[in-house]
Amino acid sequence: MGLKVRFLGTGGGRYVTAYQLRRTGGFLIEDRGLLVHIDPGPGAVRSLKDFGIDVRKIDVLFVSHNHPDHVTDAAVVLEGMTEGTRKKRGTFIGSRSVFEGLDDYKVVSSYHLRPVEKHVVAEEGVQVELGEAGLEFFGVKHTDPTAVGFLWRGSKEVTFITDTGYRRGIERFVGDVLVVNLEVMKEVPSHTSPEVVRRILEGSSPKVVLLTHFGMSVLRYGPERIARELEREFGTEVIAATDGYMWEVAGEKSLFEF
Ligand SMILES: [Zn+2]
Repeated sequence: MGLKVRFLGTGGGRYVTAYQLRRTGGFLIEDRGLLVHIDPGPGAVRSLKDFGIDVRKIDVLFVSHNHPDHVTDAAVVLEGMTEGTRKKRGTFIGSRSVFEGLDDYKVVSSYHLRPVEKHVVAEEGVQVELGEAGLEFFGVKHTDPTAVGFLWRGSKEVTFITDTGYRRGIERFVGDVLVVNLEVMKEVPSHTSPEVVRRILEGSSPKVVLLTHFGMSVLRYGPERIARELEREFGTEVIAATDGYMWEVAGEKSLFEF
């Protein structure tokens, strides 16, 4: 079975999250027999249920940084993954702030880590092997200074760029598939705007770009409109994800050959 990327939610930022204008459950990568859940924000477990995914099937939980729209449901997913903490299984990966807290905010306690087979503090330069796949982490430029993105090396390379301002050299981590959070329209330091995505695409050549984690200004402008604009500019397939959307290598929307 080939690679699948499925969106449990495509909302992000304070307002879209609080008002649930889009779901905020993060997304899943299914590849090489592993199910990886990324950034379980509020409602992640509700979305897993609604989209028919058994939480006990999640092998790896990854949290890019310790902000509520990325981490709120992490403890609940960990309890689900480990069958109520009774079964020792799974891998939990998070930025340093997820383990140590940011200011006084902390969701994942040592109680929740105990039943997990392995946990990894993700930092630039750190790599982990997971069965027949691997993950490499890289730093970004965000208001949580320990925030990290990753490059998944499985049947394809999938890059996840979390909330970030433009960071020089980030392009070198971009693989075949690029999942990128698009938070704001205006250029602000430490947050992802269309301009940041443009700069990343100027220095890289992914075969497909999947936009997600839309903030209020992005929803107002229209994620689909941004996708069309980027597609015209770069000639790369760009998809504005929607809640529940699944992208597959041989899926309807991507019939190209890798
Ligand atoms: Zn954030």
